[in-house]
Amino acid sequence: MKKKLKLVVPNNRPSRAEAEQAVRTLIEWIGENPAREGVRETPKRVVKAFEEYFRGYGMNAEEILSKTFKEVGTYDGPVLVKNLRLESRCEHHLAPFVGHVHIAYVPDGRVVGLSKLSRLIDVYASRMQTQERLTSEIADALDKYIKPKGVAVLIEAEHFCMKLRGVGEDNAWTVTTRFLGSYKKDASARENFLKMVRV
Ligand SMILES: [Zn+2]
Repeated sequence: MKKKLKLVVPNNRPSRAEAEQAVRTLIEWIGENPAREGVRETPKRVVKAFEEYFRGYGMNAEEILSKTFKEVGTYDGPVLVKNLRLESRCEHHLAPFVGHVHIAYVPDGRVVGLSKLSRLIDVYASRMQTQERLTSEIADALDKYIKPKGVAVLIEAEHFCMKLRGVGEDNAWTVTTRFLGSYKKDASARENFLKMVRV
């Protein structure tokens, strides 16, 4: 991320050194020697990686969606952006879940730059998450800050906590949806969205 991190955290947040010490403790706890050459710098690297994985806490959806455009001509259909890349981490195991986000909205005179949708996903995906809440948060933010006639969000993701541990489900995809406004009211709008996502 080029943007400087502005973490919104309580004052009692542990220091970086404390975070590194916590990683060192985990390394010792699994039975590894934290002083070993290959591992010595690992706490530093893990804390740095966490900063990247969880950058969303320092990002703000309202700010990202604050710039909208009115120049849409006579276009009155839905705007659908498919296959936006998703990388998030489950709040239960901190394991990654990865996949795609499909977003559609029906503008009510205002549209956002398409790249803003990727950044909006980043705000919520780069936090400790559940796929269900992530789906709602993306849809609700669009609804709140762009005020479109309708919003549809579909997320399909593979959860590594399910793939690599526990039940060992190797090929399971979790699909979640949230429909608001015209998409909630109108079954044919939902069908049309799902059809366009599948094309
Ligand atoms: Zn999990």
